[in-house]
Amino acid sequence: MTPRLRIGQGVDVHPLVSGRPLLLGGVQVPFDRGLDGHSDADVVAHAACDALLSAAGLGDLGQHFPPGDPRWAGASSLELCRQVAKLVAEAGWTVQSLTVTVLCDQPRLGPLVPAMRQALSGAFDLDPACLQVVPKSAEGLGFTGRGEGIAALAVCLLAGTEG
Ligand SMILES: [Zn+2]
Repeated sequence: MTPRLRIGQGVDVHPLVSGRPLLLGGVQVPFDRGLDGHSDADVVAHAACDALLSAAGLGDLGQHFPPGDPRWAGASSLELCRQVAKLVAEAGWTVQSLTVTVLCDQPRLGPLVPAMRQALSGAFDLDPACLQVVPKSAEGLGFTGRGEGIAALAVCLLAGTEG
């Protein structure tokens, strides 16, 4: 029997501002600014969630966790990841692979990749070998290169657990 496979893509962007902690992939990153936005504005976690939801045909993060909903104001995005993993599993899918590319010149994220993989794979209940986080410099170009914001792009592969 041919397994049912689905690819999903997620993209997210948040502006960098003063007076906020910087949370990426569930890890607090030492930096003089942080991302502004709904919940903790964890752009890596949000892109990953949108990739899973889109592959499963379940819409996007904003539909399930509306920005105006006080239940999710200031919430840890790892909690959103746990909720999304549950929705995807209940819909009959298992995650085969998930890769998140983070466009960020400063701070340098390389040393934090193992901690991000651990935090995200724990929240999504995945084998860490199935989950990659790839920091990428924009070489000073565009809004990520100028340090105005951070962008993340995620792709995932789901397999149907039945039928
Ligand atoms: Zn977001």
